[in-house]
Amino acid sequence: MDLLPAPTEPSEALKSPVVEIETVDMVADAVAAPDPEVSSELDTDSDDSDAWETLSDADDAIQLLRDDQLRDGLVPGACTLDEATAYRQRLHAIGKAAFVEETIARETVTAKKLCTAFGIAPPAFLDGAPDEAFHPLLAIAISREFSRRPKLPQYNTIDDAVKLLRESKNVIVLTGAGISTSLGIPDFRSKDTGLYSRLEHLGLSDPQEVFDIHIFREDPSIFFSIAKEILPTEKKYSPTHGFIRLLQDKGKLLTNYTQNIDNIEANAGVLPEKMVQCHGSFATATCMKCKFKVSGDAIFSDIKDGTIPECTACQKSIAEDALKPQGLKRKRSANGQQKSRKDSDDSSDDEDYDIPTPGVMKPDITFFGEDLPDEFGRRLVHHDRELADLVIVIGTSLKVAPVAEVPGILPRNVPQIYISRTPVSHTGFDIDLLGDCDVVVSELCRRAGWDLQHHMIPADEKVEVTPVEGYESRHMFRVIGA
Ligand SMILES: [Zn+2]
Repeated sequence: MDLLPAPTEPSEALKSPVVEIETVDMVADAVAAPDPEVSSELDTDSDDSDAWETLSDADDAIQLLRDDQLRDGLVPGACTLDEATAYRQRLHAIGKAAFVEETIARETVTAKKLCTAFGIAPPAFLDGAPDEAFHPLLAIAISREFSRRPKLPQYNTIDDAVKLLRESKNVIVLTGAGISTSLGIPDFRSKDTGLYSRLEHLGLSDPQEVFDIHIFREDPSIFFSIAKEILPTEKKYSPTHGFIRLLQDKGKLLTNYTQNIDNIEANAGVLPEKMVQCHGSFATATCMKCKFKVSGDAIFSDIKDGTIPECTACQKSIAEDALKPQGLKRKRSANGQQKSRKDSDDSSDDEDYDIPTPGVMKPDITFFGEDLPDEFGRRLVHHDRELADLVIVIGTSLKVAPVAEVPGILPRNVPQIYISRTPVSHTGFDIDLLGDCDVVVSELCRRAGWDLQHHMIPADEKVEVTPVEGYESRHMFRVIGA
């Protein structure tokens, strides 16, 4: 895909955006990079997590327009807010292909102007370019809008949020690292304060490599040198964990999908049947060789010491083999055939290895390159999807698929509330409650008349809630005294 396609017959030029709309979903490299060579990466496959990161990067590079800028008419050549709203509604009503046919193909509006309807400002490097040059950008803008869940207009205020809490019966709570940071557990993805910034001394080119299954197989010491940082040592939990427990006690918790691997929800008393640990947890560990499974407690002392835990089942079978007169010969099969390492799951696994070494015990957290637990999609699609009447997303920037896709998978009439320090732009929530999530949930409970008791919430805490300018459904929470 070229950013500056050569002008062709009008009918041909019009074909390209329609095709691109189908292929560039969620991958916005081309817009971020004026370099045509970089834009060719659009065609390459990337996994979902990369796509989300890329989108986020592109979000930073694309100049985004806010609705209040359109409303105030501050952007030359842009749609008015009324026009933009009408285009967005039309797109969702008739679909991408028909929308392009009705607008660009019939030349009822320029691609350059239409980009602004979807919140994207024409970039400076396209100044003076023919309108076709804006087609790739428009394709991305349309895809972003189309995959975005439309905000439900009837939910905006804190009172709306409190009413939803009180009236809903089946709440899905989606949580991320932000709900554990008040306990001193580092946020994985935060660039400055998070775990990743502490990993530079390990010489990793990409901090995500710590959680890369291929690297773990090569050298598990990298992971175990930092694992103790993310392993909770005490049975503590945050007010936000307490809030999830409170929803459970009130019979309102449908499922807590957590991206966290710290297993702190258990400390708060959230029942295992109410939880899906989307990225696994430290609660159990499995041998990389023989698949022997142990309780996480069994390897905690190794993790705390920063040493690599070895499989006791492997150790036992190696010891037994060594006592047999022909033990060493068994290490190679007589006819020279090697069993497939991947498929072998039984006690004869050690025959594949010349030097008998016990397997490494890997905590059952999901590494990059590993499949998510089956329970995630099964429960979401076959159970929760029909039942959920409220979604609360807390303490996650929703950048890692497929967890990030949960809000989009649920029926669009289910209200969605977002609680975090900073808003996200790539998915549309009905109400954004910004601030320290412990403060937000404690204030919500106060207003709902619910008794959320936690030693980290001062008894006489006073919270100020102020509207965020330009957004009628965004509210900032701040402690003003206790
Ligand atoms: Zn083993």
